[in-house]
Amino acid sequence: METGNLVEAAATPVVTRLAPTEPASVAGAKDRWDRVRRRLRAELGEDVFSSWFARVEIGAVVEGVAHLTVPTRFLKSWLEAHYAERLRAHCMAELDAPNGVALSVRQVARESSEPCQDLSAQRARPAQARPATPMSDVAPASAATPASDRDPMDACGTLLDRRMTFQSFVVGKSNALAFAAAERISAAPAGSTPYNPLYLHAGVGLGKTHLIQAIAQDARQHGKRVAYFTADRFMYGFVAALKSQTALAFKEKLRGIDLLIVDDVQFIQGRSIQQEFGHTINALIDAGKQIVVAADRLPTDLEALDERIRSRLAGGLVVEIGELDEALRVKILTTRLDGLKAAHPSFHVNPDVIAYVAKLVATNGRDLDGAANRILAHATLTGASVTMETAEAAIRDLVRTREPRRVKIEDIQKLVATRYNVSRADILSERRTAAVVKPRQIAMYLAKALTPRSLPEIGRRFGGRDHTTVLHAVRKIEKAIVEDRLLHDEVDLLKRMLQE
Ligand code: ADP
Ligand code: MG
Repeated sequence: METGNLVEAAATPVVTRLAPTEPASVAGAKDRWDRVRRRLRAELGEDVFSSWFARVEIGAVVEGVAHLTVPTRFLKSWLEAHYAERLRAHCMAELDAPNGVALSVRQVARESSEPCQDLSAQRARPAQARPATPMSDVAPASAATPASDRDPMDACGTLLDRRMTFQSFVVGKSNALAFAAAERISAAPAGSTPYNPLYLHAGVGLGKTHLIQAIAQDARQHGKRVAYFTADRFMYGFVAALKSQTALAFKEKLRGIDLLIVDDVQFIQGRSIQQEFGHTINALIDAGKQIVVAADRLPTDLEALDERIRSRLAGGLVVEIGELDEALRVKILTTRLDGLKAAHPSFHVNPDVIAYVAKLVATNGRDLDGAANRILAHATLTGASVTMETAEAAIRDLVRTREPRRVKIEDIQKLVATRYNVSRADILSERRTAAVVKPRQIAMYLAKALTPRSLPEIGRRFGGRDHTTVLHAVRKIEKAIVEDRLLHDEVDLLKRMLQE
């Protein structure tokens, strides 16, 4: 990322007085500014250029400082954060501006008559522009946006599953905290942000998507403007906006909402998209908008994201949804089967069978859905009533394919200890001799690879180590097995032994 020294325009108080009375120099500057634009376009490519620089205008060059204007504060801070050094270098070369660049936000109504405002004045009187919200420098929707574009969901959200509501969400020990936070956020008045951001994390199928979609639907019923995205849809929305040169419109549209929800943020990838994502999150939080995100891991483990985005995401309330205990699984399965019964009135599964199936399918809600569907299919195809045996037969494949996931950390530790001639206590201990460190790292790697446990949880199970230690071990072994064929085969064998 570029950081650079945009000059403080406050040091040149003459700007507003001089610029409008020097049309010749402004005209000359415009020609030369075109050369800067050509350089930027050539260097950065059309997409980046048109999304960040197309709306930058030259005001004047005064006392060696190039004064540039942009339509929004968002764009100004983005350029300052990412392109300061590049702008400075090109302006120095083409504009004869050795003293740097000053960016300021154009007032929409006065754009042509006053191309270059005095930044010092603007800084001193921030309330002057449009004080309603911290992001109030955006033109109101009615001024620039066609009516059809006003609802951010119409244009860029993901459709919601109507079945995923608070009412259909079964609350138990492992998700009670997440549920309470979700309800609280949904019911809070627009503009009030009880926990911001709310970060939900859990393994697959434990109800993240259900809960955040429930927030979206419920918050809408409370009259809030909600944008719900999967990570894919967010990336697609942004890339499409870049291509059609409407990236700014996309961002501005997002800023018109009360609540942004993004699912599966671990999938957000690509440098510029991540920056966009980070910037969007920051801008929305700073503007007092609520953010809710879900991921399959802790914010600190979102390795693809920039450190600052990670810590921003971790800065609100981080809640884990734990494994579904048996009681919860019984309730979820009962709810599912009741739902199916509505469409198939003769379908009945007695509570003993439900309890048995819920015991066998210990993984997650997705598999419980699968079990319910299979039992229904079995019952309707054979016409027989559902018994323990028929239920078990119906879900057999489901239980078997899920078996590898149920490797226990303890089993990993025991097997690895045996293989390397150390004790399990050695692995859990503080000892740092090579003979112990390597098996310990392999065991941690296997724990991450074969169980759904989070890094902190693995750390706890390895003698109370920090999650960063686990992450280090995982990365180290990942790298080592790429480089060392023998180790690769050895780890592979351990994996297979554990999964059998
Ligand atoms: P995730 O997004 O965490 O992978 P989902 O929210 O997609 O998981 O859940 C998978 C399935 O399990 C969905 O059909 C969901 O409705 C169901 N489910 C998970 N947890 C619960 C719960 N507590 N109550 C009711 N259904 C649940
Ligand atoms: Mg999900």
